Amino acid sequence: MSIESTINQLREELRQHNYNYYILDNPTISDYEFDMKLKELQDLEEKHPEFFDANSPTQRVGGTITKNFNTVVHDFRMYSLDNSYSKEDLLDWETRIKKLVDGDVQYTCELKYDGASMNLTYQNGKLLRAVTRGDGVQGDEVTANVKTINTVPLQLKGNFPDRFDIRGEIVLPIAGFIKMNEERIATDEEPYRNPRNTASGSLKLQDSAEVAKRPLECLLYSIKGNSLNITTQFEGLEKAREWGFKVPNEAKLVNSIDEVFEYVAYWDEHRHNLPYEIDGVVVKVNSLYQQDELGFTAKAPRWAMAYKFKAEQVSTTLNEITYQVGRTGAITPVANLKPVQLAGTIVKRASLHNADQIEKLNIREGDEVYVEKGGEIIPKIIAVDFTKRPSDSEPTKYITNCPECKTELVRIEGEAKHYCPNYNRCPPQVIGRIQHFISRKAMDIEGLGGETVALLVNEGLIKNYSDLYDLTIEQVIPLERMAEKSAENLINGIEASKQIPFERVLFALGIRYVGETVAKKLAKHYKSIDALMFASSLDLITVDEIGERIAESVVEFFNSEDNREIINRLQSFGVQLEISAEKLANQTNKLNGQSFVVSGVFETVSRNELKKLIEDNGGKVSSSISSKTSFVVAGDKMGPSKRTKAENLNIPILTEQAFLRLLK
Ligand code: AMP
Ligand code: ZN
Repeated sequence: MSIESTINQLREELRQHNYNYYILDNPTISDYEFDMKLKELQDLEEKHPEFFDANSPTQRVGGTITKNFNTVVHDFRMYSLDNSYSKEDLLDWETRIKKLVDGDVQYTCELKYDGASMNLTYQNGKLLRAVTRGDGVQGDEVTANVKTINTVPLQLKGNFPDRFDIRGEIVLPIAGFIKMNEERIATDEEPYRNPRNTASGSLKLQDSAEVAKRPLECLLYSIKGNSLNITTQFEGLEKAREWGFKVPNEAKLVNSIDEVFEYVAYWDEHRHNLPYEIDGVVVKVNSLYQQDELGFTAKAPRWAMAYKFKAEQVSTTLNEITYQVGRTGAITPVANLKPVQLAGTIVKRASLHNADQIEKLNIREGDEVYVEKGGEIIPKIIAVDFTKRPSDSEPTKYITNCPECKTELVRIEGEAKHYCPNYNRCPPQVIGRIQHFISRKAMDIEGLGGETVALLVNEGLIKNYSDLYDLTIEQVIPLERMAEKSAENLINGIEASKQIPFERVLFALGIRYVGETVAKKLAKHYKSIDALMFASSLDLITVDEIGERIAESVVEFFNSEDNREIINRLQSFGVQLEISAEKLANQTNKLNGQSFVVSGVFETVSRNELKKLIEDNGGKVSSSISSKTSFVVAGDKMGPSKRTKAENLNIPILTEQAFLRLLK
């Protein structure tokens, strides 16, 4: 078999497995087997770039960086929907329809998915582009990001029209949302507020590899095109399903407005059993002929109507306000409620965010309060029922001291939250910081989990993360649920973390506002903790992407004697606190201030190696050519449009060899 047909066959197979897994929810091979086949295809494609296909299953992992999203005018305008909130509203709508069309009217009832609307254009069965709704007339092209969503087919099956648009909603299923938030909380990042905003925010991320990591789905509900050979909305849904799209099965064809009411009532009650959030249902006149007769108002189709569910509310008693201390010392007031059933779960607690919120609500212990579950997973308190306030109730006094260590709290100007400044002695801060230190993206210490950290601190075996490095097996074995084997693993895991490179150690230290990216920037610029420690605020802000807020936080961290002592100890244990000599040897400033665009296929180095070479030598890599580009490094098969652009802007084009000479 020729290489090309092997590649095509693998692509076809992987497509089918993707479909089985994501659309049918019925995989027929193991994840491992799938990964192996994908790897095989990746290798072949890398060796044979002449068979590149932008819609290959390998393109799902992302990696494209988009700086500016292009604006694209929709072929068919994306209208909004009229809203209704009651049976009467729906009956009025029916009356209006019956005046304008003859004959019986059937309705397709669908769920109203709560996410971000998306228009996909397919040509010859391939995804051509994906565009956000924007203002309805034009939106942003986000194809690279949408391609990473597994439920968006890159190649259709069956008998599809040559060209058409299909619309859907990009949603983040609740389980995936919760998992993402657990990971964020573990690294002390602010959790996302709700799935809808997270889904729409994801579409505008610049790095499509980041989008690929998010468990987004695309649920389809409408096809647009010329001469499609479809006569009803419901038939459209069935066809879309046949072509490989994810069209939820809850859609229902009904014959009367009474049946619409039944559908509405059913889903108002059962919506919490769905894997994703909906905020209502959408009712559509089924016949496309009748739809044509009805037409559009300035804003929405006359043939469709959204029915919005009310956000569910209940009232209950606020028993007590307690206060939580986070890893960075931030205080969060929590409302402890008399348990109450709401939106399918029992609610016991709600966040009160900060002192301002308490003041705004004028809320007191003992109050009867209204709790609502809207788009947010965490319920919120909407209002107090002042008619029920007990006569002996007392105004809420915000705490002045840390509930855990009794230190006086501080509130930095311009910030909403109070902080406990007892950075190195306040137990939840101590535990939280060590938990961050050992986490996967930081020191990634195998054999040590968050609970064990808490145990070690509570038993007085460690006081900060540097103490991990002189733990012994004998100290650990007596701990609860610790067998000899796991104690050994733990100590080995700690030992192994001494190899973790400097940039990750820097992230692991848990300096406020120093996330992964900032840590990388700082490590690259200062090269060692000693240099960083002596950097002034003024010096720090000269580093690319480091602002005042970060600079001050870094300076403050190293101003603390405790912290300097901890760093000394880490150093004495052999933790990597500078860029390794080997890495340093490969780094220069030769390309400082120069910006490169890399295009085509190269002989002696891979494209990624080439990019790394540029960055290691102080240059910048960007994805598109502009007047700011200093050089284009061109390999074999450089895109013709890139070449024309470079030539028009008079930007020198370097061959691979010429570039490597530049470095020597
Ligand atoms: P609105 O944003 O309130 O004007 O509602 C219109 C939006 O609802 C559309 O742009 C879609 O993104 C979304 N929507 C969700 N589910 C459906 C559905 N089944 N049919 C049509 N639109 C839907
Ligand atoms: Zn404290």
